Amino acid sequence: MAKKYEGPAIGIDLGTTYSCVAVWQEQNNRAEIIHNEQGNKTTPSFVAFTDSQRLIGDAAKNQAASNPVNTIFDAKRLIGRKYSDSVIQNDLQLWPFKVVSGIDDNPVIVVNFRNEEKCYVAEEISSMILMKMKEIADKFLESKVKDAVITVPAYFNDSQRKATKDAGAIAGLNVIRIINEPTAAALAYGLQKRANCVEERNIFVFDLGGGTFDVSLLTIKNNEFDVRATAGDTHLGGEDFDNRMVNHFVKEFKRKHNKDISGNSKALRRLRTACERAKRTLSFDSETSIDIDAIFEGIDLCSSITRAKFEQLNMNLFEKCMETVESCLTDAKIDKKNVDDVVLVGGSSRIPKVMQLLQEFFNGKELCLSINPDEAVAYGAAVQAALLSDGIKSVPNLVLRDVIPLSLGIMVKGDVMSVLIPRNSTIPVKKKQVYHTCEDDQPGVSIDVYEGERMVASENNLLGVFVLKVPLAPRGLPVTVCFSIDADGILNVSAEEESSGNKKDITITKENGRLSTEEIMRMIEEAEKFKAEDIKFMKKVKAMNVLEDYLYNMRKVMKDVTSMLSLTDKMKINAAMVKGKMLIEDKMDRETFVFVDFLKELESIFESALKKINKAYSDDESDSD
Ligand code: AMP
Repeated sequence: MAKKYEGPAIGIDLGTTYSCVAVWQEQNNRAEIIHNEQGNKTTPSFVAFTDSQRLIGDAAKNQAASNPVNTIFDAKRLIGRKYSDSVIQNDLQLWPFKVVSGIDDNPVIVVNFRNEEKCYVAEEISSMILMKMKEIADKFLESKVKDAVITVPAYFNDSQRKATKDAGAIAGLNVIRIINEPTAAALAYGLQKRANCVEERNIFVFDLGGGTFDVSLLTIKNNEFDVRATAGDTHLGGEDFDNRMVNHFVKEFKRKHNKDISGNSKALRRLRTACERAKRTLSFDSETSIDIDAIFEGIDLCSSITRAKFEQLNMNLFEKCMETVESCLTDAKIDKKNVDDVVLVGGSSRIPKVMQLLQEFFNGKELCLSINPDEAVAYGAAVQAALLSDGIKSVPNLVLRDVIPLSLGIMVKGDVMSVLIPRNSTIPVKKKQVYHTCEDDQPGVSIDVYEGERMVASENNLLGVFVLKVPLAPRGLPVTVCFSIDADGILNVSAEEESSGNKKDITITKENGRLSTEEIMRMIEEAEKFKAEDIKFMKKVKAMNVLEDYLYNMRKVMKDVTSMLSLTDKMKINAAMVKGKMLIEDKMDRETFVFVDFLKELESIFESALKKINKAYSDDESDSD
């Protein structure tokens, strides 16, 4: 594999609920999962806006209950989708933040930031999370990281992949490869547990995360990883299980107290946090309680839930997962008894019922729980990043061949989908096909590109349309259409009419949910501005803290020296202390220099008063001598 990047390149698992970053470590011969500043290996995929600052990660999640309408999560569920999409419409009911329909039906998140209304698209929110992950890596590596491999659910479509790449660009990252999450997990598994495996092994990866579900069947042999088939649901995961529990308690509260909390975003946020915690507990205990003080109109929510109830609430979703497992094996043409290892990835794969159903499906086979489900994807992404980087010798020379999740083709006469590249084809791939004009003297041919499995083209997902001009001729004029998919799984389409030499490439336009280059540039600029603002804010906080510390120490010293001060100095110092306190209390409207300058003034007032005391004291000493 040609190595093009200088490195160090990082691997980022951009998750719906949590994200994780890793880097290959030459000295240890393995990828290292990088801790964030809180010491956690995963960082919540949350961004919050307040009247003074923007928060990302733990800081954003921690204040979610008090600022629900301006705390954004689940951006990954929105990315590359339309506002009117029925799955988005369902999610909207439960999100405490505001999402509206923007240009071309693209979803736009509306927040109040620094007392102003601001609009963001999902790519921008994701870019903020990516920027945070980059910062975590920068600190750890003590250098500025440029290149990254980002993972996406295997079942992400073309627009969702491109939108993720755009988010990386906005974050100032050079996205050197997009890889599928289960494939990344398989890389981690293969390297950690099946290194140098010589006989062929069929590995089934079951990846159930916070918002997405993916399965892949791979064969590993001699460090060659071949994805045979992949299937999934980009809208199924832990959050859906949380939602079911939230709805359960909303109904219970209504029954018990005749009050509807569903319209109260703060109450919903608090309930959702409690439900997520309860869900995790139910993976170990058979029952747990939920206690939330004064959740609504001063009434407490005190209740409990059993594991059996949780399972009952989610059973049809768990069963849906098993159907996807079956369809992946059918696509891979592999019988379940020939699967050697079933590897679990993603936080939600810890749910006992999910494990039980999966084990039953594989006729009682032991599941591989030996890799960390939260870290495996980032680990694999870091391995891929190292493979693509220059000068890294310790990474094993792996070969990875992935597949596309959805069939790609064009619409032909009668709204028929003519597939050029069937789903589960290995990438990169290039396919050409000759089509013919249907009418005499047709001035042009419309190439409508679709992805999906329906035979009726218009029932699939339209990726883009372009028209190729052709010379006037009787019908039957040949036009060659070429589809090529790069290693990121991103499609390029061209069409050519040979006699005239007319050729055209597809440009995926905004209508397809893509951001234009200008929009990406604007967002990159804004992201830079944000970064500058964050640095400015941190400087201000530091200056305020220094002032606050000084005032605190001053107050302590004053207790001892007040009686020794002149009335004028006492009044001067007290007035300055009151002013200092006031500055700190309504800190937000002031610039950093106000705190720095005031500290200098305060120091000079206080120190000159103390000098006077010292002088009086040493004069007294010399008098008594
Ligand atoms: P991921 O996207 O892989 O980071 O997975 C995050 C999801 O896993 C979230 O929805 C978590 O609530 C869920 N999760 C994490 N730990 C557990 C657990 N012990 N039991 C059930 N769900 C969990």
